[in-house]
Amino acid sequence: MSDSSKGLASPIMTAIITCPVCDRDNVIFYSLKAKSLASKQNVFSIPIYLDTPKYVYVDYNDYTFSVCPDCYFTSANKKEFIYMDSIIGVKNKTTLLPKVLQHWKENPKEIEDILADNFVDETSFKEPRTDEGIISSYKLAIYKTSLEIKYKIPYSNLRRGKIYLKLFYTSRKLYKKDNEDILKLALEDFEYVFKESDFPEISYEYELLYLIAAIYMRLGDEAKATSYMKVFDQTKANILQKAKADQRINTSEVVKWLTRAKDLWQERSDNNVWEVMKPWPLR
Ligand SMILES: [Zn+2]
Repeated sequence: MSDSSKGLASPIMTAIITCPVCDRDNVIFYSLKAKSLASKQNVFSIPIYLDTPKYVYVDYNDYTFSVCPDCYFTSANKKEFIYMDSIIGVKNKTTLLPKVLQHWKENPKEIEDILADNFVDETSFKEPRTDEGIISSYKLAIYKTSLEIKYKIPYSNLRRGKIYLKLFYTSRKLYKKDNEDILKLALEDFEYVFKESDFPEISYEYELLYLIAAIYMRLGDEAKATSYMKVFDQTKANILQKAKADQRINTSEVVKWLTRAKDLWQERSDNNVWEVMKPWPLR
């Protein structure tokens, strides 16, 4: 029996929006209905969506980025597109940085070149999104985030590193193969973010340290993984020390991520841990 004949609802919501770059006005924006799909994280903090009795199974990672099929403008943030606000009844202004908008307008050739190896048309980015549409949406999202880095929007390296991790997962899913080069690109971004402390608040540093250590373990560089774990241990010790004097300091996040890093270190020789299509821990 197909999902629809079982009467299951789709967990995905759509909105019709206007592209801020080329003004095309029937672009579809995708978002996930609140409390529809449960998920667990894989070893690289990517959500693995789980089957639920009420909804059709969808891997929402495939729809993270909405794409204009004319100029290929791509975003995960609805506010960067233009749409009628149903409460106040007027159109919003895009929150996209004017320099990024301008760049996108003026460089159509550069953007088409990104998709030179991909066959995409009008329907590729819709639901159900084609494999080529999914991969293209990631390539475009990485290009856009690279522009945001170029135009100095804070935390863009952190966002791009996370998109690389999602692309690593998605490539594994579509091509049945781990592409370590993508992991190395994520690692480059994360090490830069760590060095520059380019994250919105301190709690991001713990997940970042975890991810850097995890990628080094996956790449088999145990010396590097160990050196970041040492930094992590020291960070935790400093925070616990400060928390003694100031009870407002939250210690649960640092403990959670360091514990996760140490558990991973213990299990690193089990290949199942690195199977990115599955949640981790496995239990
Ligand atoms: Zn457009």
